[in-house]
Amino acid sequence: MGAEPDVVVWDVPLRTRFRGLTRRDGVLVRGDAGWGEFSPFWDYDDDAAVRWWRAAREAADEGWPAAVRTHVPVNVTVPAVDPEHAHRIVTGSGGCRTAKVKVAEPGQPTGADEARLEAVRDALGPHGAIRIDANAAWDVDTATERLAALDRAAGGLEYAEQPVPGVDDLVALRRRTHVPLAADEAVRRTDDPLEVVRRHAADVIVLKVQPLGGVRACLRLAEQAGLPVVVSSALESSVGLAAGLALAAALPELPYACGLATAALLADDLVPDPLLPRDGAIDVRRPVPSAALLRAAAAPPSLVARWDARLAAVRARA
Ligand SMILES: [Mg+2]
Repeated sequence: MGAEPDVVVWDVPLRTRFRGLTRRDGVLVRGDAGWGEFSPFWDYDDDAAVRWWRAAREAADEGWPAAVRTHVPVNVTVPAVDPEHAHRIVTGSGGCRTAKVKVAEPGQPTGADEARLEAVRDALGPHGAIRIDANAAWDVDTATERLAALDRAAGGLEYAEQPVPGVDDLVALRRRTHVPLAADEAVRRTDDPLEVVRRHAADVIVLKVQPLGGVRACLRLAEQAGLPVVVSSALESSVGLAAGLALAAALPELPYACGLATAALLADDLVPDPLLPRDGAIDVRRPVPSAALLRAAAAPPSLVARWDARLAAVRARA
């Protein structure tokens, strides 16, 4: 047996189109503490990807702070699919009692979001929690109207994640809706992630380990923010998800289910025992990729070349 490589470029299909993607790709790097994942989406430039690289190096070189809990409650994520499919995703979710439903997908007919939310409520039962994510699709007027309608269709919303783009919009919307607001893009795609907190623009903040530079960086942000935190994935493989799980496990308080049950959105994973929920929660652990699965997910040469170039550019900036 030859020495195993310390950098692996992987590429796997998604089960359902998500965030406009049909495949997910990235790099695994190995260090003294284990494997780390570097998988910025391609719409992040090299400067923004530096934080993703820091998160990968933290995982590979240092590992993560100690856990204060053994399992993390998670939500099932429902892409912008038709009602029957949404229903199936929730009933097959591994017992999740919270659902995060994607809404405001471009090109979908009026009423598609309402129908999806009704199906999710039916599948979840009256005591489940439903949150929506509009990925900053609306302006303030549209969001005011849509939140009222979707709150009715869902039989009550736990919160709405980033219905409008910027901090100004969130502040304005917050005065016009009773639905609690969560900030995601406004935290993750800015140089000032705490502006939402200072300006009282959100009730909840979403933290993602890779875009925010690692588990320790997120723990510091959470401490400074003083708002409830929901840890979510960036659609990583189970190697990257383990970092999100480590963050959720280390937070002193965790009042909401986390958005870490996204391994189910990938058709293949890199570990033999993916981080999937049981009874609505994921056990806190760090699965190890297998050589066979890494070979099966090996990216084609053209994609390896793209990642090599990106990695070189990001390392030069780090
Ligand atoms: Mg989001």
